[in-house]
Amino acid sequence: MKPRRPLLLNILSNRCPACREGRLFAVRNPFLPKTMNTMHVACPNCGADFAREPGFYFGAAYVSYALTVALWVAVLLALYTFGAVGWIAFTGFFDQPEMFLTCGVVTLVLMLPLLQRLSRSIWIHMFLRHGDHGSQSEEGRA
Ligand SMILES: [Zn+2]
Repeated sequence: MKPRRPLLLNILSNRCPACREGRLFAVRNPFLPKTMNTMHVACPNCGADFAREPGFYFGAAYVSYALTVALWVAVLLALYTFGAVGWIAFTGFFDQPEMFLTCGVVTLVLMLPLLQRLSRSIWIHMFLRHGDHGSQSEEGRA
């Protein structure tokens, strides 16, 4: 038997939380706009229910928000580390806000498909555990 993939690697690779083998998304390339968020209804490997209820993935917006904030902080730290922005004393704001905004927006637009998939992956991993196949698959297997 194959050893199961570690949880963090499983989340990052968009795999089924139940079996850690099947893919969450129907198309592997996340940068195709029409199929960016197209998910399997159930795991192609184990049959775990990915469409748990209508609107289930609206909750992934909260995860996406947190990831986006983390991305902006990472951009700010990177710019600050490389000396591209500096702090203005007394005001607490940047001396070059346009540099921060430009780099932040460009990075966000480029990373958006990956962030959306990652947030959905994190969201389903919060509700499905290894070996748990959801309600639909239980009925389907009987
Ligand atoms: Zn599976």
